[in-house]
Amino acid sequence: MSLLQKVKNFVRSKSIHVAYVDVGSCNGCDIEVLACLSPRYDIEQYGIYVHNNPREADILLVIGAYTPGWEEKLRSLWDKIPDPKVAIAIGNCPISGCVFNRPHSLIDPPVAKHIPIAAQVPGCPPRPTEILSAVLAMAPVVFKDYEVKKR
Ligand code: SF4
Repeated sequence: MSLLQKVKNFVRSKSIHVAYVDVGSCNGCDIEVLACLSPRYDIEQYGIYVHNNPREADILLVIGAYTPGWEEKLRSLWDKIPDPKVAIAIGNCPISGCVFNRPHSLIDPPVAKHIPIAAQVPGCPPRPTEILSAVLAMAPVVFKDYEVKKR
């Protein structure tokens, strides 16, 4: 384990930082991610902090059907996230293209062709609880000594 990874584990072992990117959605999945922040689901009670700074992220949520305009931008975003890191595909769009996958469409799913995807949360859109579960399931990967707090 590198020194940077040791520092990361020490400082943030109880806090998962999540960035998200929309590479071409109908915004349905964005709303479900935002719902995770609402008092009803309160994602921060689990120590999960959602922001859009890839340099401080552990997990990248990818939303939407991949469009060609993201070719370099998504890779560049992924490269900025420090190791260890994972990407999670949220919704059917990054998995299959969903309703946008039709003849002559410009989309290029799955997003796993473009960056490594560690987990998928299918649904159109998936429920906030499913998104939350996927993020928590990835905690042992991004923080070796992470423990889910018992409440
Ligand atoms: S999976 Fe469904 S809800 Fe989510 S962005 Fe695609 S079309 Fe919209």
